[in-house]
Amino acid sequence: MILKWRKHNLNTSDHTLSIFALGGVNEIGKNMYVIQSSDDIVVIDCGAKFPDESLLGIDLIIQDISFLKENKDKIRALIVTHGHEDHIGGIPYLLKQLNMPVYATNLTLGLIELKLKEHGLLRQTKLLLIDEESIVRLGTIRTTFFRTSHSIPDCLGIAFHTPQGTIVHTGDFKFDFTPVDNQSPDIHKMAELGQQGVLLLLSESTNAERPGSTPSERLVGDHIVDAFRDAPRKVFISTFASNVHRVQQVVNAAIKTNRKLALVGRSMVNVVSVAIERGYLEVPEGMLIESREVSAMDPEKVAILCTGSQGEPMAALSRLSSSNFRDIEVLPEDTVILAASPIPGNERSVSRIIDNLFLLGARVIYGSGTVTGMHVSGHACQEELKLMLTLMKPKYFIPIHGEYRMLHQHRILAESVGVKSNNIFIVNNGDVVDIVDGKAVQTRSVDSGNIFVDGFGIGDVGNIILRDRKLLSEDGMLVIVTTISKSQGKIISGPDTISRGFIYGPESEELIKEVNESVRATINKTRDFNRNQRELKQNIKKSIEKLLYSRTKRRPMILPIIIDI
Ligand SMILES: [Zn+2]
Ligand SMILES: [Zn+2]
Repeated sequence: MILKWRKHNLNTSDHTLSIFALGGVNEIGKNMYVIQSSDDIVVIDCGAKFPDESLLGIDLIIQDISFLKENKDKIRALIVTHGHEDHIGGIPYLLKQLNMPVYATNLTLGLIELKLKEHGLLRQTKLLLIDEESIVRLGTIRTTFFRTSHSIPDCLGIAFHTPQGTIVHTGDFKFDFTPVDNQSPDIHKMAELGQQGVLLLLSESTNAERPGSTPSERLVGDHIVDAFRDAPRKVFISTFASNVHRVQQVVNAAIKTNRKLALVGRSMVNVVSVAIERGYLEVPEGMLIESREVSAMDPEKVAILCTGSQGEPMAALSRLSSSNFRDIEVLPEDTVILAASPIPGNERSVSRIIDNLFLLGARVIYGSGTVTGMHVSGHACQEELKLMLTLMKPKYFIPIHGEYRMLHQHRILAESVGVKSNNIFIVNNGDVVDIVDGKAVQTRSVDSGNIFVDGFGIGDVGNIILRDRKLLSEDGMLVIVTTISKSQGKIISGPDTISRGFIYGPESEELIKEVNESVRATINKTRDFNRNQRELKQNIKKSIEKLLYSRTKRRPMILPIIIDI
């Protein structure tokens, strides 16, 4: 039985240890994990998730943090494993509701600062720099770190040493033994943690369905150089701005092929400047040019690094493909490289961009990274996941960071390397694993869920507004305004009907007239306006719905407005 605990009193004994996710399991995105040891709570990561088309007008999805609000006195820190959106995107919204110190590595802090600046939160937030050597004491929890490799520099795995035992959170990782920045994963440290004993491992599952190992990022570099060399005119290359290693390889390819480089797209410019500032990217003096300088240059001497590899409609690549970019044009015989695989769900918009680029006469290099060599994943495949499990030798295991099938595959991998099947927990967001006297059980859960961000609003847009938006987007709306006099018991003016997204043009006039007649009739039938306002509106709605459906087979939203004077 799952108990819903409204009052989260966990301070029953000094030895209580609890672990749960508020986001990130059974989904990709909005990662947030919580560890509570006695009265000390540590939050790991605070990501955001991007909505699909069904969530009309929603900008971002973040976590339900009711649990954290109810236990705010116990929160010691937010520790961030790395700077990807699914790990930092929710931070401004979290900090607006709950202030807490934020621990992260140098580059990650730089990316978090960009967000905090945008939200005006930089001054009031305590940002603390850590690296793989740091030891952070958070009440009863001693926290140490180990370096991992991933598709962004400066990633950490975390070990929480508690009175009950050690919990390890891997963060996102792969094992890249020839990393572009020569920062190899701390495999010795991981083995040492395993040697000392890991009570529970939380390990990411993104590529748990994929056999083998993920190739090194270094392989991409050679392919980029070849493509730059073969390009007869300008080269455009699009990738994730945060993939600083790939950006470095683009810079290197430009140097080798004697091209200047223009950065296009706000996030590319922002991230690259943070990466240069903090020493994660080496760009020779005079290498970068402004986008307005591109057209004046010899096309063989220029490359353009841009955002939009996921088909985002407002990003640079999409605008370039529809000749809708101010300073730069894609011309026949230009080369466009998509150096990123589309994330599931983005395939259609990416394909549309590729079509448009071909229409412009460009040579387009696109498709799966294994074919083009222009992309490798940042996540561990099955053999690497088994390596992590083998290094850590955990007693208990919770697969995280993935949809259900990925978690399930990760469980099978764990079993195959000797983790006892009863000691593996596949959890939902909010499900709590409690460890009491060294024994883990999952019997209760805390509040969790999706909170929608729309503009400045956090959580004010819910299912009712979304249902309305859906209705409006499908069949439009009709507003019927009538002014009545309560004392005289009659219509003073109207009904006037205004429609949007429903019908238009001369044919509609007849129908609108009919609507107004019907509303008039309904009002005239009503005796007591004072008492029956609500009922009157309901009656108008019902009769008009019926009328419109019989005439048009559409169901627009109907808003009767009665003004009484
Ligand atoms: Zn990541
Ligand atoms: Zn991630």
